[in-house]
Order: sequence, then C-alpha cells, then structure tokens
Amino acid sequence: MAGAAIVNAGRAERAGWPTACADVREALFAWLDREVAAPVAERIARHVDQCDGCAAAAARDRALLALVRGRAGAHDPAPPTLRARIARALDAVAPPSD
Ligand SMILES: [Zn+2]
Repeated sequence: MAGAAIVNAGRAERAGWPTACADVREALFAWLDREVAAPVAERIARHVDQCDGCAAAAARDRALLALVRGRAGAHDPAPPTLRARIARALDAVAPPSD
C-alpha cells in the first residue's frame, strides 16, 4: 500500500517522533477546533504537514467540522444520511489512505 509505505518511511526518518498517525487521527477534530495545548497542536501540525494520509484526513475533518459549525446555531441538526452522503463525497475527493 502506497499510503502505508509513506507513513512507515516517515516514522523511520523521525525516530522518537511522539505522535503516531493513529494519535493524530484521534486528535484531529480537537486540533482543528483549537482544543489542544499549543505544544501538541504544533506536533500535530508538523505531522500533518509531512504525512499525506493525515493531511487528507485533516482536510476531510476540516470540511466536516465546518459543516457541523455551520449548522451549530440551527435547531435541526444535519440528518445522519446527509452526513454520510457528504462523507462519501469527501472520500471520493480525498480518500483516506488507510
Ligand atoms: Zn500521519
């Protein structure tokens, strides 16, 4: 898998890198929402900058977050079917690498 190869190569180049892809993916929403401490945010930003897979995931999460934020003031949240449709559409544009 090309994506996995990129990630593994990145890890080898940065021995001791404290932020694994799984950790980054887990923290993406909080990071995009500026809810993580500055040092962590910087590590995530650097990782996303150098990792194609996490960059794609961040782009998707950012779009979803913008969507959720745009609906935040509305009384009727976006229905799950709409979210699923948007998620699929975003996958087509930026497929997750893993
Ligand atoms: Zn990554």
